[in-house]
Amino acid sequence: VSLWWAEHAWLGGPAVQSGVLLSVKGERFVSVTPSVADPPPAATRLRGMTLPGMANVHSHVFHRALRGRTQDRRGSFWSWREIMYGLANRLEPDSFGRLARAVFAEMLVAGFTAVGEFHYLHHPPGGGRYADPNEMGSALVEAAAAAGIRLTLLDTCYLSGGFDSVPLGAQLRFSDGTADAWAERVSALQCRDGVRLGAALHSVRAVPAAAITQVVAWAETSGWPLHAHVSEQRREVEECVARLGRPPLAVLADHGAVHPRFTAVHGTHLTAGEVGLLGRAGAGCCLCPTTERDLGDGIGPARDLHEAGVALCIGTDSHAVIDGFEEARAIELDARLQSGERNLLSSCTLLHAATRQGMAALGWDAGSIEAGRLADFVTVRLDTPRTAGADPSSVATAVFAATAADVDVVVVGGVQLVGGGVHLQAPDLSSKLETEISRLWS
Ligand SMILES: [Zn+2]
Repeated sequence: VSLWWAEHAWLGGPAVQSGVLLSVKGERFVSVTPSVADPPPAATRLRGMTLPGMANVHSHVFHRALRGRTQDRRGSFWSWREIMYGLANRLEPDSFGRLARAVFAEMLVAGFTAVGEFHYLHHPPGGGRYADPNEMGSALVEAAAAAGIRLTLLDTCYLSGGFDSVPLGAQLRFSDGTADAWAERVSALQCRDGVRLGAALHSVRAVPAAAITQVVAWAETSGWPLHAHVSEQRREVEECVARLGRPPLAVLADHGAVHPRFTAVHGTHLTAGEVGLLGRAGAGCCLCPTTERDLGDGIGPARDLHEAGVALCIGTDSHAVIDGFEEARAIELDARLQSGERNLLSSCTLLHAATRQGMAALGWDAGSIEAGRLADFVTVRLDTPRTAGADPSSVATAVFAATAADVDVVVVGGVQLVGGGVHLQAPDLSSKLETEISRLWS
């Protein structure tokens, strides 16, 4: 049994507790005791505010190489996508794995203890197959293990280049040809400790209706989470309505995809009817506000989703920013810009989105500091220029003052992987990121 004493800790309620003694056995909490004024001598002291590990529910890890390289070009989501495709075509299993390892480590030091990788970069440039058709997925599994982050590998079905068009260019790397071929490849995926598998439908434009039914059935049989990009861009909604007569979420629901293990990613342009449909189905919605603002997608209906009973969660998606606090507060701050009102979603609601609800969307029994759960936690310093003077008993301090740079300690399954804000196994993380990314562009 290892003991940790948190000066302040958020245990899921509206206030932050003081003097919380955490007892961990194996990878789980065995007891959580607030109001312990004097830490026992054997306990490791956690100075600052301790929170559950955060879940980064939606990631395309290689997009990290686009940071600071696309932001000042005039265009739209669709012109950005061409640059992203150019990058996608430069990656091979080795370079992909090395980049992923560094980016997963960046996520860990930011306070994420789990990531959902929405993985569609399956095959060699131009199509064809690697000797092991899951070589790219395996590179992700190894990278996550090396970085120490939990991974839910959301293997993504991507079959068409658009409504009624074949895959072209970089898209040839994404496609298995048919849903049966996707399922055959996925059934050979190798798992390991700290890794879970899930399924994803890239979008209604990339997966024809009949194939949606097949992927849904496969995920159902396996008991996997199922994720899909939904209504990120107005153009895809308009095309979907023109071709199929219904907006994207309604199409997914018609084919059985919308159920309690389903997470809609983005949902930026959902109709009121679709919001209600998600809520009644007990499904979730992953908002990625820093990416949505970077790409000019729009502002999603966060408050309506929350009020409809949809479990919200967060993802850093294209990694323009990797900061769970920024992602969580952006949900509320965007809603303020949209509505002209303040405090539409409470700090507690936002922090649950970043932690417990995200973990549930990825199939992990983590995201809250309570006996029996996986012992993933993060301590944020309260003595940095950003956090100093903020109320240590307020949940708003975590959501509205903290940044990824204030994360001091990260523990995954009872094992400390970050100390003093540094990844203990990758203290040279910045140079690793620099090396891998500059190599890709040279
Ligand atoms: Zn995405």
